Amino acid sequence: MKAPNKCPICGNKEKWICVDKSKKGFSAGKALTGGFLLGGIGLAFGGLGKKTSCYHCGNCGFEHEYQG
Ligand SMILES: [Zn+2]
Repeated sequence: MKAPNKCPICGNKEKWICVDKSKKGFSAGKALTGGFLLGGIGLAFGGLGKKTSCYHCGNCGFEHEYQG
C-alpha cells in the first residue's frame, strides 16, 4: 500500500509527514555489536524493497506504516 499525499482521516496535507521510527532509540552500542552481524541481513532485506515508512498526522494524530 502506497502512502497517500495527505492524511486519510482529516485530509491535512501540511502536517502529514513521514517519520522514520527505525532510527529512534537505536543505540550506538547495539549498532556496533549487532550492526556487524546484522549488516549483511539488513542489506539483503533492503535490496528486496521491504522498506516501510511511517507517516504521522500532526493535525489529528493519525499514524500508519506504508510500504515503499
Ligand atoms: Zn489527520
